[in-house]
Amino acid sequence: MKQLLILSGKGGTGKTTVAAAFIKLSNTSSFADCDVDAPNLHLVMKQETVPDVKSFLGMDKYTIDQDLCIGCGLCYTSCRYDAIYVKENKYVIDDISCEGCSVCEYVCPADAVSSKTNIAGDLLLYKSDKVFSTGRLATGGGNSGLLVTEVKKALGRRKEEGIEIIDGSPGIGCPVLASMSGANLVLLVTEPTLSGFSDMKRIATTAKKLHIKTAVCINKVTSDLDNVNQIKEYCYNEEIPVVGEIPYDKEVVTNINKGMSIVDTQCIAGEAVKKIYGNVLDLMM
Ligand code: SF4
Ligand code: SF4
Repeated sequence: MKQLLILSGKGGTGKTTVAAAFIKLSNTSSFADCDVDAPNLHLVMKQETVPDVKSFLGMDKYTIDQDLCIGCGLCYTSCRYDAIYVKENKYVIDDISCEGCSVCEYVCPADAVSSKTNIAGDLLLYKSDKVFSTGRLATGGGNSGLLVTEVKKALGRRKEEGIEIIDGSPGIGCPVLASMSGANLVLLVTEPTLSGFSDMKRIATTAKKLHIKTAVCINKVTSDLDNVNQIKEYCYNEEIPVVGEIPYDKEVVTNINKGMSIVDTQCIAGEAVKKIYGNVLDLMM
């Protein structure tokens, strides 16, 4: 299967809305939600099966054995993440701030520091005639990039024709970079605002550096076309195809609030997404 990754740069541009619509239109047998900080594709893509849930182990955390600690403070001065603090004259490690680098264990002269398993989230896999993989990062859990890699791996390698659809994370950090691995096309869903355009450019630049084919669709288009034209001009100069525009449509919110995709009812945004889906397929085949 070819893999389509849907990203946005900025949150709230309608990335998941487009991803859900594409999953419906393609009837794909394989899709994933890699927005592990705030997964919500399952709200629209309701599953009848119960998912297999597996704990996701992040980098180990560290702890200090107060019976062994001699209070030298070396761990405290060596920790680059300010994860060690003093409480009632004892050195203590804050689990949330600890990045698991193990420096404190390395410098401790009394063998008082040791590692402990860190459950940083969950992996969820829904299996029926389709496979839907997703993950949930725990509050304060790190290693989001690693979790995204695990979410994608859980889909397995499918040999059939068609496209696999991955809903990525907003932003430009580790989870986004991890989601780009193996993608045949990145579709950037942007909106005609200054911040939407700015964040889209950052992702487009990243995809270009990684030599991943990119296309853009512009969502929430109104009669104010200044920013739309700027986005189109940028894409033209960067040789990024603009696969379509989705008009601002109140029906989108109505559908989402009912847990439906925008192609589940007749609405102008849904009709535009159908055309965009066709254009994306042409680019991928
Ligand atoms: S493992 Fe690293 S980040 Fe965590 S407390 Fe030790 S030195 Fe600090
Ligand atoms: S380096 Fe070891 S002995 Fe020194 S304060 Fe930290 S835990 Fe205690």
